[in-house]
Amino acid sequence: RCGYVAIIGRPNVGKSTLLNHILGQKLSITSRKPQTTRHQVLGIKTEGEVQAIYVDTPGMHLKEEKALNRYMNKAASSAIKDVDLILFLVDRDRWIDDDDLVLKILENARSPVVLVINKVDRLDDKGQLLPLITNLQSKYKFADVVPVSALQGHNREELEKVIARFL
Ligand code: GDP
Ligand code: MG
Repeated sequence: RCGYVAIIGRPNVGKSTLLNHILGQKLSITSRKPQTTRHQVLGIKTEGEVQAIYVDTPGMHLKEEKALNRYMNKAASSAIKDVDLILFLVDRDRWIDDDDLVLKILENARSPVVLVINKVDRLDDKGQLLPLITNLQSKYKFADVVPVSALQGHNREELEKVIARFL
């Protein structure tokens, strides 16, 4: 089995970090500075009979008056067009307007979308996740929800199992 997986989300939620850890190599640049990933970055992982082609995307921005942001939004929204699965990455406690922008773009998506809640290593209480999940599920019909820590590895394998189901 083989398929394309797009990783989408606003800047700084950890898209590139997640991709690097899934691939086990520093393919995509990660940084605390937003807009580090300016183009689509592809990575391929083959495991057994499953081959996933990951598309890391630039973070999406509301401020469209900036040419670079406009360009990055375009790259990100075209990235979700022709894929088998979309991973929508969010930060566990920081929902901002840019997240809503991404959600809006996802309304045009034809592939299943898995909600990936990242940075759960920073949660003191896992119970804090439930209100976020419930709220987001009322906004969009996600195919699945997986809380992860891209950085520390929490649930990363679980996420890869979920991904494989859609390829
Ligand atoms: P992107 O803009 O979505 O690609 O985000 P990056 O992958 O560049 O990460 C942005 C920042 O968040 C970096 O400083 C990362 O080290 C940090 N980060 C990413 N994933 C995690 C995580 O699971 N836990 C924590 N604590 N920090 C993370
Ligand atoms: Mg990035």
